[in-house]
Amino acid sequence: MGCERTNSCQFFIDIMAGMPKTADYIKKKYCLACFEVCARYRIYKEFNGEAIPVRLFPFDSERGARILKRLRRE
Ligand code: SF4
Repeated sequence: MGCERTNSCQFFIDIMAGMPKTADYIKKKYCLACFEVCARYRIYKEFNGEAIPVRLFPFDSERGARILKRLRRE
């Protein structure tokens, strides 16, 4: 089973459209497999889709952690 957000994730739909090789890698590694570790998915689960920066890459866990930390403080 893949990520529940593949139909609504702006990154999945828009950003990766212009990067076919990267998109293929990310989709196989994250969206269709280990989506629980995706930086975008982790923010979505705790807050919602609106809190996710458009250009946050799924593998950018450090930035994702900083964003989560900030959101938890607000
Ligand atoms: S990029 Fe992350 S949140 Fe978006 S569809 Fe893929 S796994 Fe889900």
